[in-house]
This record gives sequence, C-alpha cells and structure tokens, in this order.
Amino acid sequence: MKKITIAIDGFSSTGKSTVAKMLAKELDYIYVDTGAMYRAVTLFAMRKLFIKDGHFDKEGLIRNLFLVSVNFKLNPVTGIADVYLNNENVEKEIRTLEVSNFVSPIAAISEVRQLLVQKQHEMGKEKGIVMDGRDIGTVVFPDAELKVFMTASADERARRRYDELIAKGDDVSFEAVLENVQKRDRLDTSREDSPLVQADDAILLDNTYTNIEDQFHILLQLAKDRIYGRC
Ligand code: C5P
Repeated sequence: MKKITIAIDGFSSTGKSTVAKMLAKELDYIYVDTGAMYRAVTLFAMRKLFIKDGHFDKEGLIRNLFLVSVNFKLNPVTGIADVYLNNENVEKEIRTLEVSNFVSPIAAISEVRQLLVQKQHEMGKEKGIVMDGRDIGTVVFPDAELKVFMTASADERARRRYDELIAKGDDVSFEAVLENVQKRDRLDTSREDSPLVQADDAILLDNTYTNIEDQFHILLQLAKDRIYGRC
C-alpha cells in the first residue's frame, strides 16, 4: 500500500498530538511530536543555566548545541515514542508550564531549528509518518500529501491545557495558562524563521466545537483518499 506523509500544524493546545497519535496508530505509521523536540532543547537550556533569573544567554546556548541530542524511543506501555534528551527520558519534564513559557524564544533560534529539522527529515524520509508541529507543511515536508492546519479559540485551547496540567497535579491558574497560550501564538506567528502559518494547500480544521472522535474520522478519511488515490 502507498505510504504518505501527513503534516499536522497549528496553534498550541489544539489537540494536534492527540489526533495525530490516533491517526498514526490506525494507519500503522510513525508519529513524531516535533514540539517535544523544541521542548527538550528548552529543558537543556534551563538545566545548563542558559536561562536563569529571567535572563537568556542565547549565544551560550548556540555554542553548546553540539552537546544536545534529541531522540525518540518507543514506550512499550503506551505504544507511543517518548522523547529523550541525551539518552534520558524527559517526556514528563518537558510538559511543565515553565518549559512552555521558555520554548517559543528557543524555537525562534535558526540554529536550533536547523538541528531539529535535519532530524525530522531523517525520521520522515521513508514516508509512513504523521508529524505534528508548526512548520511541517510549510518547511519540513512541503511536499506532504496531506496537510492539516488546526485551530480553536484561545479560551478553549487554554481550558484544555489547564485541565491536562491539573489532572497531572500541577499547581497552575487558568489565567497563567491562557497567557502562555496567547504569548506563544504571538511569538510563533511573528518569528522570522519558519513562522506558524497555514500552508496554501493545507486543510483548515477549527475544532473549537468538534470532539476528538469526529476530528479523527475526518482526518482518517482525508488520509485514505490520498493513500488510495481518490484525490
Ligand atoms: O506542540 P507544542 O505546544 O508542544 O510546541 C511547543 C513549542 O515549540 C511551540 O509553541 C513552538 O514555539 C515550538 N515549535 C516550533 N516548531 C514546531 C513544533 C513546535 O517552533 N515544528
């Protein structure tokens, strides 16, 4: 059966990864969460104190990027690949609001993007992949057979992220989460290198009022149409 590349981009907390994972599982494709890769580099920067007391040593981070290795390894319990920073599973550490607050400035650095995009190209070269992020359909795989751009109202996205963090036991306020979502939208869409923008040939999916199951069925149908050459 023909294998395709599926690029899912969009604003933060639109549920991209949830639906992308479901799709990858159904099609028996590899799933790659590129946001996790930018989050892992952010964690590295925080741990090595390139980010400290509100100060960010960008040049220091760039000089030390050769020390960063980001990989994925399959978690046999969840059946999904976890992200590893220098051989340490950091899946949990990268999901905090603190990392979310620093990730966008780090993702705006061209040297960081070059490092991670190269890795993303390698992972997708055989096709049969669902990759989610901000620039997958525009920069990483501009020839992807299926491109989807996901959005939802900022309030709804913040509510989803807030519920997730609270369920994990994090002590956060809804206002702090909403502020983070809006700030990341602003930074991700306005940066010079690979800004978040809908590709001309991407299908727009506003899921403010659509549940996960319905989104999954819409995307699965779109994928099948391309795999079986119906469009
Ligand atoms: O998807 P997630 O919310 O985990 O992404 C975290 C951040 O990583 C985004 O807000 C964005 O700044 C950055 N990112 C990016 N390009 C990607 C994926 C994520 O710039 N392909």
